[in-house]
Amino acid sequence: ATMPPLLSAIANAGRHGVLVKSAVVMERLGQVDAVALDKTGTLTEGTPRVTDIRPFPGSGLDEGELLALAAAAENPSEHPLARAVVAAARERGLALAPAEDFDSTPGVGVTATVDGRAVTVGAPARLLNEATDAASARAAVLAGELEEGGRTAVLITVDGAPAGVLGIADRLRPDARETVASLASLTGTAPLLLTGDNPRAAARLAAEVGIEDVRAGLLPEHKVRAVRELEDGGRRVMVVGDGVNDAPALAAAHTGVAMGRAGSDLALETADAVIVRDELATVPAVIALSRRARKLVV
Ligand code: ADP
Ligand code: MG
Repeated sequence: ATMPPLLSAIANAGRHGVLVKSAVVMERLGQVDAVALDKTGTLTEGTPRVTDIRPFPGSGLDEGELLALAAAAENPSEHPLARAVVAAARERGLALAPAEDFDSTPGVGVTATVDGRAVTVGAPARLLNEATDAASARAAVLAGELEEGGRTAVLITVDGAPAGVLGIADRLRPDARETVASLASLTGTAPLLLTGDNPRAAARLAAEVGIEDVRAGLLPEHKVRAVRELEDGGRRVMVVGDGVNDAPALAAAHTGVAMGRAGSDLALETADAVIVRDELATVPAVIALSRRARKLVV
């Protein structure tokens, strides 16, 4: 028997390295007319590396001690930044104490008790809030410098006091720029960037890939709101993301696509389609496949 066009399109998408979960999804992919891309792990490779370790003098910690505490707290997390911190500690042969009472907040960071000390690791802008003490001011300045340089700054607090900052950098995917351009011409709309990361690092990366519409510092519910606003305006939005923080937006979007290799389990389960081959350029390819199949269906 000849396969129905949408089913053979699914098989075809599979050969391109994209797992499309149903014929309905295969059909919807071709209706997309706006694409919202996540930054970390989506436009970037998602294997970031620690580039800077800056303990504060008042913390009494040296570089190794700061990194070891941060890595111990991050150890249970699957976030790409957490993996980077743990990998940096391992490379230096640091022993990681167990993390007790671990908790994580998507888009913010993690908390845990390490060696009897309360350790938090996460976004400086979220953790510092309205703090006005000298250590917090110092942390904000240092984080700002790292972010100017395109790094993601991560703040470590120990027993409530800022203890140091890590700088983390991730490489752009080699096909990010060309993918943004083909999505723009395919959908007729310039893709936008939705990220939980800081505005400075976001703007820098957006300029490199050719995205003008940048929304940074977003919590998961802000990503959902951005998608809903576009959809209320009549757009059919595809969200492409990898993290736990992307899951609500992947669910809210007309079509959700998850990055398979480094993607969190929740993102993979929530998404309508999963990029298995780890190439961003497969996204415009499946939109085109869907459009061809839909022409054959009607
Ligand atoms: P994106 O939307 O770009 O994928 P996320 O929303 O996952 O980024 O993270 C946003 C910000 O929250 C990060 O840039 C970081 O500052 C902070 N963050 C989230 N999770 C962690 C973590 N496990 N360790 C350190 N920082 C974290
Ligand atoms: Mg991400």
